Amino acid sequence: MINSMTQPILEDYTLSPEQVPLVPSLVLPQAERQQLKEQIKAQLKALDAVLVAHYYVDGDIQELAEETGGCVADSLEMARFGRDHSAQTLIVSGVRFMGETAKILSPEKQVFMPTLQAECSLDLGCPPDAFADFIKQHEDRTVVVYANTSARVKALADWVVTSSCALEIVSALDRAGEKILWAPDQHLGRYIQNQTQSDMLLWSGACVVHEEFKTQALEDMRRVYPDAGILVHPESPAGVIDLADAVGSTSAIIKAAGELPNKEFIVATDRGIFHKLRQLNPDKVFIEAPTAGDGATCRSCAHCPWMAMNELQCLNRVLGDASYRAENAIHIDPAIAERARLPLDRMLEFSA
Ligand code: SF4
Repeated sequence: MINSMTQPILEDYTLSPEQVPLVPSLVLPQAERQQLKEQIKAQLKALDAVLVAHYYVDGDIQELAEETGGCVADSLEMARFGRDHSAQTLIVSGVRFMGETAKILSPEKQVFMPTLQAECSLDLGCPPDAFADFIKQHEDRTVVVYANTSARVKALADWVVTSSCALEIVSALDRAGEKILWAPDQHLGRYIQNQTQSDMLLWSGACVVHEEFKTQALEDMRRVYPDAGILVHPESPAGVIDLADAVGSTSAIIKAAGELPNKEFIVATDRGIFHKLRQLNPDKVFIEAPTAGDGATCRSCAHCPWMAMNELQCLNRVLGDASYRAENAIHIDPAIAERARLPLDRMLEFSA
């Protein structure tokens, strides 16, 4: 089995602080937000478009998605919903790889995003050419990539997984005797390796949001809230995962918050999820897990700067301004999309 002693030294593919944009801090007045929401509703109808949103985006956008017949979900369910919905125009509010996944699964549909500048540190930290070289050096391994990757990286993979299904898929591959090359998130990869004891070779990427959660500060916080349950996304460092009462994808965290008896929860994932957690559990208290710790500099402070680019104004503009819409349309080379679809379809079939 590959472990920390035998894992080859790989270039560091985590992002430097300069590569991470700041979270926008402009908060629109309530009346303006309400007006924008009404406009967006009317424009969705006029374009016959459906809004597919991630749990980490602005709460108003999540509400709009639900009120207009779209969906709010994790990336696995977003992919499935976009593929199965009859609308020919999808507006994907999340980050670029989610728009790309929607386009790969529905090449005949038009897919737009509020802004194509909404990236993901895991996607940026897995350049396709470098990853192709890595695969060449380990051709005996089955290539499993996280959904948070570009279409070009997916096109190099045998399997795509999300955090909802990664554990089950890797377990099944391990039972079949396969050795795995995993990319890009090292923390999620290590968590799965520990859980399954699979032979996994890990790429060195990380999520800038989850990597900031701090073990010592979380232990301190637990002393302040001794009755709180701790809910952790597995993109977090191992020490934070070790303190969790429940570990899982955004959907799994939402489920655990409803099922566990605790009245208070400390949550280690993007704070965008608090909108849904509070909506579903009005009698429970949700507290952000600590990110910075003593002396550390917080880059994202538990909110993904790229998810935060999904602002109501951008969503309104992509619907109402045809030239802005054209600039923010997802296009993928058909040959790459066709190849990338194979591992995506495998995942959707496995988790159907
Ligand atoms: S929260 Fe992390 S994994 Fe999710 S989109 Fe942002 S950078 Fe990527």
